[in-house]
Amino acid sequence: MFSNLKPLPTDPILGLMAAYQQDTNPNKIDLGVGVYKNEQGDTPILESVKKAEAFRLENETSKSYIGLAGDLGYCRKMESLLLGEHSALLADRVRTAQTPGGTGALRVAAEFIARCNPQATVWVTTPTWANHISLFEAAGLQVKEYPYYDYENKGLLFDEMITALKQVPKGDIVLLHACCHNPSGMDLNQEQWKVVAELAKDVGFTPLVDIAYQGFGASLNEDAAGLRVLADTVEEMIICSSCSKNFGLYRERIGACSIIAKDTAVANVSNSVLLSVVRGIYSMPPAHGATIVDTILGSEELTGLWHQELAQMRDRINGLRSLIVDNLHAQDVAQDFSFIKHQHGMFSFLSITKEQIERLQKEYAIYIVGSSRVNVAGVSKANIEYFAKAVADVIK
Ligand code: PMP
Repeated sequence: MFSNLKPLPTDPILGLMAAYQQDTNPNKIDLGVGVYKNEQGDTPILESVKKAEAFRLENETSKSYIGLAGDLGYCRKMESLLLGEHSALLADRVRTAQTPGGTGALRVAAEFIARCNPQATVWVTTPTWANHISLFEAAGLQVKEYPYYDYENKGLLFDEMITALKQVPKGDIVLLHACCHNPSGMDLNQEQWKVVAELAKDVGFTPLVDIAYQGFGASLNEDAAGLRVLADTVEEMIICSSCSKNFGLYRERIGACSIIAKDTAVANVSNSVLLSVVRGIYSMPPAHGATIVDTILGSEELTGLWHQELAQMRDRINGLRSLIVDNLHAQDVAQDFSFIKHQHGMFSFLSITKEQIERLQKEYAIYIVGSSRVNVAGVSKANIEYFAKAVADVIK
């Protein structure tokens, strides 16, 4: 049976990661994979996480299963983190399951949507995180795209987006990135979120908000402000969140899928379906990451420390955005790169050609994915000049 299989191409980002690891050039720079890096190019464990882990090691009393929804303390705290003061108001309508990462949350959401309406189409931004498409298709759902990033002007195609969303059939799902859009870094502003929220209500589509970078853009609250406008406006929505980036818990696989229903009765039914989906995929989530987040958010001291560490990561990313633009412009390049300063999170498109990307890799050992998406956190004060000179050379 296995012999009938046809080989599939490796994920381009994972292939790039492997090529980078094998490169012996001491000046090599990895701008591919979407992982935060510090000035030394490392992805260290946060101090708040280390302290929470020490506490867990000391206090854990059982390795028995934690239940289908996972750690309930974690689930409630994630609702507060996502919804802020709205979480108390929405408590009767929101139900959350802890999931293996944000990817697990999206996969659970996809199956949940298929249970609600197997004919539903999921509308995603052009472009979007490539895995979005496979995750929804894996649940048998159709995926279609709506205009979002303006490659030419390096901004948003907001009018085109609204025109497209007005045509979305009632009952379909519209996926929105809460902040730090992956791959473009272009986010909706507060006014635009209000327009989308009203549209969701009028047209009757269900918003699914993917929030994988809360705290990496402007602040924990500002990055969730759009999601909160939606939660205030629509009767139902889905939120898929991840603690991979903001808690640096990548390999612990910790995220959440939250359903907001129109009332308590529908929320309870939705919850039973959500848990049945979980049971059918992985039965129960792992405990470690959830306990860490629950411990941090349950302690004033650790929360304070985490806020500081998160602000440090965010400030570094935003500082690097300016540094990249200033260094590129110092090379007298013809292109204007100032758009990079106005985008959010770890990603932006450099907007250079495939040939130029290939030259960067071959001649300078600078690794960028073919779309020209760069992970801003991959540069540092030590390599920024090398990077800027290399880019200036290949685009001249
Ligand atoms: N959504 C988006 C937009 C992402 O960029 C990512 C991570 N690359 C995820 C979800 C999933 O994150 P994870 O499964 O690592 O928590």
